[in-house]
Amino acid sequence: MTMLYYWKIVVEVLILWYVIYMVLLFVKGTRSEQLLKGIVIIGVIFLIAQQLGLEAISWSLARLFPISVIALIVIFQPELRKGLAQLGQLGLHQESGEVLEEIAGAAGNLSRRKIGALIVLEREVGLKSYIESGTQIDAKVTNYLITSIFMPQSPLHDGAVIIQRGRLVAAGCVLPLPQEERGIPKILGMRHRAAVGITEETDAVCLIVSEETGAISIASGGKLNLGLDEEGVLKMLKNLFYKPEDKPFKLPTGFLKVAKRGR
Ligand code: ATP
Ligand code: MG
Repeated sequence: MTMLYYWKIVVEVLILWYVIYMVLLFVKGTRSEQLLKGIVIIGVIFLIAQQLGLEAISWSLARLFPISVIALIVIFQPELRKGLAQLGQLGLHQESGEVLEEIAGAAGNLSRRKIGALIVLEREVGLKSYIESGTQIDAKVTNYLITSIFMPQSPLHDGAVIIQRGRLVAAGCVLPLPQEERGIPKILGMRHRAAVGITEETDAVCLIVSEETGAISIASGGKLNLGLDEEGVLKMLKNLFYKPEDKPFKLPTGFLKVAKRGR
């Protein structure tokens, strides 16, 4: 056997390991984590059934396999989309600095007046169905427009505003609630929950101004960052829209150690 042969094995194992590691990192803390656990359990049952020679069970599970591949693609469609987009770094949908400044300014304005607001910024995953749940608008994003929409007397103040490629495309939109209530502080109400819901379901970023406290928060990836000020909002939005959240190809440290050992 040549050196090349061993190198191939090492490289292959490393690549597989890295892919599995990224998949686990990607699903960690999302609802896919539960699904993945379910699939692993079914796999284990299959292996046990085979070992014990339980013919009927292993026969039916083996028949189910081709169907389940299609089912998995359908079930994980949003995650697959998001994952592939991140892989190609297409998820880097940019909003211009000007738009982000107008949004941060509006957040500051609304916060000082304790006017509740919910603003969703679309990234790679389309928000068509949510846009359709509200009133469609197509306007330039400005601080005053956002502030006016959320004024308590405004007919459109209830629900969320959606921003798509620098345009304010809809207001009064209904957002989905999270699948699970894990990790959301009890005192936070429906507005904050809806922000977690939409950012869990899609790769959108959601800004919330609390009517009760005036506090500004930003949700992304189903996680809430509470208590930001106007400056903090702008900084965070710029981070989210100018560079990827995670550095996709940074090798974990344990990885390099093993690579050296394998030599
Ligand atoms: P606040 O701190 O502003 O009170 P909250 O998290 O306590 O926020 P609620 O008081 O429960 O939220 O809800 C306030 C508003 O949030 C509602 O009047 C509505 O406009 C908006 N809202 C609630 N749920 C949704 C949803 N699913 N989609 C869009 N908007 C929602
Ligand atoms: Mg409330």
